[in-house]
Amino acid sequence: HAKTAGRRGERFFTNEMEAQLEARHTLEADLRKAVANHEFELNYQPLFDIGAQRICGFEALLRWNHPTRGRVSPVEFIPLAEELGLIVDIGRWVLLQACTDAAGWPEDVKVAVNVSAIQFTHGNLPEDVSTALTTSGLAPARLEIEITESVLMENREEALPILHALKQRGLRVAMDDFGTGYSSLSYLSSFPFDKIKIDKSFVTDIVENREAFAIIRAIILLGDALGMRVTVEGVETGEQLALLEQEACDEIQGYHISPPRPLADVPKLLSGSWETHGAKAG
Ligand code: C2E
Ligand code: MG
Ligand code: MG
Ligand code: MG
Repeated sequence: HAKTAGRRGERFFTNEMEAQLEARHTLEADLRKAVANHEFELNYQPLFDIGAQRICGFEALLRWNHPTRGRVSPVEFIPLAEELGLIVDIGRWVLLQACTDAAGWPEDVKVAVNVSAIQFTHGNLPEDVSTALTTSGLAPARLEIEITESVLMENREEALPILHALKQRGLRVAMDDFGTGYSSLSYLSSFPFDKIKIDKSFVTDIVENREAFAIIRAIILLGDALGMRVTVEGVETGEQLALLEQEACDEIQGYHISPPRPLADVPKLLSGSWETHGAKAG
């Protein structure tokens, strides 16, 4: 009796797996065509300079508008694109598009572009960056490359010369999602980062929880002491911003200022209507 039930269970599981596998194959096939079909779009989220009290740049965030499934989250398709090796081409498109868009913004506004581990090693990132800068005419100092700790972890040997090559071209390098990896502290001093972006998980409870605030304060101090610009990601409320304003935090990013928006909204955001997205409106 139990055996029958077990078999049935197994069979059900297999069907489920087959369905999942098929869905994945379809997604793979669609992803391969997405660049050529112009299904990708960049959204831009403001980086808000606390000292200057203004938007000093935007992070480019990739969006996939799937013809039938609608918007697919980057959290879902970027790992797949990495696995399939498609991320190198997609990343090249992102770089060129972001630089081209930013070249149309005021000169004191920067653009930040995310780069994945595979782009870092299997592509030719310094060359792709140079091409994007030359083609778009964007000043190198206005481009910031964001990489996560896992990039360094997986490619410790290769990472340093690539980082130096990028910096030699005059652009800035930021460590993204700081604090979520394994060896954050040693990486901070051995790689030439201009900026750390403290992961949004560290800001969530800072208003309600003294310990959480103590931790983010310590990370901000560390970044500051190492001479880096410090950005806190995921700031959603005015109360959180008020706490961070008393610390050596240089920039914030988060829904309090604005969620990521289409390129067309950038002028509106720059002209000051960012205030309406945050707590000041309420
Ligand atoms: P990330 O680089 O850390 O980007 C920040 C993510 O946090 C974005 O998610 C953004 O929409 C979200 N976010 C911003 N403010 C808030 C907030 O106040 N609260 C909360 N809960 N979330 C907030 P998104 O756009 O879904 O992107 C997810 C991740 O996908 C990015 O994390 C990045 O690692 C990756 N990604 C996005 N675009 C690209 C790209 O062009 N290339 C590569 N390689 N990765 C990308
Ligand atoms: Mg990022
Ligand atoms: Mg991040
Ligand atoms: Mg500082």
